[in-house]
Amino acid sequence: MELLKQRIRKDGTVKGNDVLKVDSFLNHQMDVALFEEIGKEFLRRFDGCGVNKILTIEASGIGIACVTAQFFHCPVIFAKKSKTKNIAGEVYTTKVRSFTHGNVSDVIVSTRFLGPGDKVLIIDDFLANGAALEGLIDLVSQSGAELAGAGIVIEKAFQPGGDRLRAKGIRVESLARIKSMSEETGVEFMD
Ligand code: 5GP
Repeated sequence: MELLKQRIRKDGTVKGNDVLKVDSFLNHQMDVALFEEIGKEFLRRFDGCGVNKILTIEASGIGIACVTAQFFHCPVIFAKKSKTKNIAGEVYTTKVRSFTHGNVSDVIVSTRFLGPGDKVLIIDDFLANGAALEGLIDLVSQSGAELAGAGIVIEKAFQPGGDRLRAKGIRVESLARIKSMSEETGVEFMD
């Protein structure tokens, strides 16, 4: 998605060799007009797939997922990082290691909001090692819902998550795929 790539080139900053900061338009301050274009592009790619639920993970996926959901006319569920135990079996639960913080969180979705008969599109801001996406896919499979695929805003394609998930047959659509990046040279895209 050219508009997104231009914005990353203009306003993204590389930290170390593997973290891209996009705080000015995606992760802290949010450019809602850009999110609208992102949502339209996800619809273009997943239109006709029968999506009736969008699933993301708190916190930074929520804004993008909500704007995208307006184009799919469906609700958004965000998986919560939670300390609550699943005593009564009322939640699906999985563990996700955070790329940015390194810690492992229990991540939950209520069984009230996802189940057999649902067709789920997962939306997230970044794909790096794939832990967040794998956790969300695990929640979908526990629920018995069907997965349409995953819509990712920025994939760092030099990290292994995207390739591993595609090799498992998951449809992963990324709007900007980064081939390499460094503080000195900035960001290079795949195409
Ligand atoms: P993964 O689980 O695929 O390793 O990492 C994905 C999650 O980590 C995303 O939900 C995102 O919040 C965060 N993340 C991974 N890489 C980056 C990055 O380069 N920049 C930012 N801002 N977040 C990242």
